[in-house]
Amino acid sequence: MKRIDLKRAKSQIARPNTIREINTQIVLNYVRDLAPISRAEIARVTNLQRSTVSSIVDALLRADLIEDIGTGDSTGGRKPNLLRIRTGSPVAIGVDVGPVNTVVAIADLAGSILDKEEFSTSKNADKETSLIISSISRFLKKYQNDELEVGLSVPGITDHANSSVTYVPYFRWHDWDICDRIENETGLKVTVDNDANAIALAELWFGREKIRKTRNFITVLVSEGIGTGVVFEGQVYRGEKGDAGEFGHMIVGSLAPVACSCGGFECWEAFASNTASQARFESALIGNGSKSSGANVIELALKGDEKALAALCETAKYLGIGISNLIVGLGPQAVVVSGGITQAWDLISEEVHKAVEKSIRKRLPRTVITASSLPSRPTLIGAVALVLARKFAAAS
Ligand SMILES: [Zn+2]
Repeated sequence: MKRIDLKRAKSQIARPNTIREINTQIVLNYVRDLAPISRAEIARVTNLQRSTVSSIVDALLRADLIEDIGTGDSTGGRKPNLLRIRTGSPVAIGVDVGPVNTVVAIADLAGSILDKEEFSTSKNADKETSLIISSISRFLKKYQNDELEVGLSVPGITDHANSSVTYVPYFRWHDWDICDRIENETGLKVTVDNDANAIALAELWFGREKIRKTRNFITVLVSEGIGTGVVFEGQVYRGEKGDAGEFGHMIVGSLAPVACSCGGFECWEAFASNTASQARFESALIGNGSKSSGANVIELALKGDEKALAALCETAKYLGIGISNLIVGLGPQAVVVSGGITQAWDLISEEVHKAVEKSIRKRLPRTVITASSLPSRPTLIGAVALVLARKFAAAS
């Protein structure tokens, strides 16, 4: 039960159509999870009046969000018409801004990508904005749907509540006006979040079934740095100012193999990121009298290179130490790891688990630690999920 915040009560007061909106989202969620499902079955599982269900279903059919797929088995009387989420109909434009390239994609309500464009991310914020808007405009010409909205995943600090981007450290962009520009020039609503939160949302809506049914879990994105997303009671926890989940900067040791993005040598990110694995591998080569190769440490480990494997296992040990701290502090049901390192999950998972088991108190319930099942660019699914979560969930 939540204590009511009187400062925010004005914006939370129930408007006459609030109940209808909530019921619509509940019906949409039942169609998503239990399809194919009939109107009668929805009325039975929700305890809503049959006429209320029919009127909500009609509105969802008109909005092209669900579809009628014909008749099912009868339990007596007339055979019922069955419903499911409408696939193939464009409802979300996901914009995933990465440090190297940007992907703009259009997706349906099931999160399937229908079409996408990819380009190198410009180091100039204005140029990047123009490239994104041109791409969205091309999609708008090709796919018309009143339901279309934009979800934007950014590798930086964002203000989710006010749809703004505060800072992108990689390019040193301050107060990037991308959200306002998209809204003004295309008329589409924009929802923004940082890449780690977008991934957490993607796991919640499109991850493996076990994770989707979990109310409390943490996502750990291992890339050039480490980003974490916290899902608490079925929604992403963003903190008072939207800056929660910066566990990449928790201190796990001293004299890390590389500097953290904040400049320190004590942060988790400096011990357990891909940059750390690469640095460990390169210094083992140099220590051995060989020249730095620049080859990808994960790919080499998968091919059986012993030095690469040793570097990766050392990184996995630190990944496990950080995960162990998260488990002790927050008690999640699961921790989901994503990023390139998960390609080598079979090689490193034992090391990760060993570090966790060593430090966790024995009698705590065992937390599931698993590699993400999302496609290779989880931040793109995250960008799409930012839109879809708004359609399925009340005020996420
Ligand atoms: Zn740091």
